[in-house]
Amino acid sequence: MHTEFPSIPAGTPEPGLYIVATPIGNLGDITLRAIAVLGGAALVACEDTRVTGKLLKHLGIKARLQRLDDHAPPEVRGRVIDVARHSAVALVSDAGTPLISDPGYRLVREARAAGITVTSIPGACATVSALAIAGLPSDRFLFAGFLPVKDKARRDALEGVAGVAATLVFYETAPRIERSLRAIADLWPEREVAVARELTKLHEECRSGSAAALADHYAAHPPKGEIVLIIGPPAEAEAPVADPDALLRAALADAGPGKAAGIVAKATGLDRAALYARALALKGE
Ligand code: SAM
Repeated sequence: MHTEFPSIPAGTPEPGLYIVATPIGNLGDITLRAIAVLGGAALVACEDTRVTGKLLKHLGIKARLQRLDDHAPPEVRGRVIDVARHSAVALVSDAGTPLISDPGYRLVREARAAGITVTSIPGACATVSALAIAGLPSDRFLFAGFLPVKDKARRDALEGVAGVAATLVFYETAPRIERSLRAIADLWPEREVAVARELTKLHEECRSGSAAALADHYAAHPPKGEIVLIIGPPAEAEAPVADPDALLRAALADAGPGKAAGIVAKATGLDRAALYARALALKGE
């Protein structure tokens, strides 16, 4: 096993665009690679120069900052990309992983199209941190960003993902969490919900239960801080059942009836013996 603690990589990073994750609260959550890239970058593109300036000051790094968000005119992105042709350019957001409900998508897309090497410097992300502690299924999840603010739009957004057979992850704010939980309680009273708040900070908490119980709790104890809202997947009976024949046909393209039945049974929870019989019939068609 490799036990040596890696030191901060020395030297100037290679030219290119580096997508650098920064802490979501606890300043200790910055990686050695992030420090090296931020310290060696010719330019640090960021959402808010004051926020990033504070982080860099804490790290003892002096860097040239360029404000850049997804509304920045194309010329600004073009200039950043030009710098990245010959020098290392870092992109950070105010907190966490850029592009995850944060700016950066356009810059990355245009940089790739321009043949620039784009490198990920991974680190904190509220979605992943929340999923890691919520105790809800994490094998399959849909991250759907912020829920709309208005009641009808929020309900429509929730209804739009009602059939998704996966855990749902939303970003939410403290003043809106109770209303969102009430909307979820109306639609899915039986689903387990988790509210992960102030992750990595002093008052981190993760509370789970039905949406109604959580809404009552937050009505009585108005929360502060940042929130990730996680909704457990629908019960198997409610989840839309995929067409078993279509799944079997696809599996039969690469496997025999036994293996195909096993694959589809695992994916759907349907009875393996019945699937095997059906696979034999489909194979004989
Ligand atoms: N890019 C960030 C990431 O990687 O998670 C997300 C940025 S998004 C603009 C900000 C939202 O992320 C917050 O409103 C909240 O929903 C969530 N968030 C960020 N930090 C958090 C934290 N420490 N605890 C809980 N949620 C957090």
